[in-house]
Amino acid sequence: MSEMKRCPICKRSKTKAIQEQTTQRVACGVNGCVFSKEIVNAIESKTKIKVVKQNKPKIKIEKAEKLKIKIVKN
Ligand SMILES: [Zn+2]
Repeated sequence: MSEMKRCPICKRSKTKAIQEQTTQRVACGVNGCVFSKEIVNAIESKTKIKVVKQNKPKIKIEKAEKLKIKIVKN
């Protein structure tokens, strides 16, 4: 009787609810979902990792622009 193992609204276990929602990267659309806070926290922690990864392609884009400038000058 300590913690709810299954959400009475979306009928998923806590682990499954968090897994499914983080895969879709959206908070539980079911209003009143008992795991909504945990789902949002899990999505936010995953997003932080993805933001770090997104910095690398930006450097590649800058290099590509420099190459384009060289082609124009030639
Ligand atoms: Zn739920």
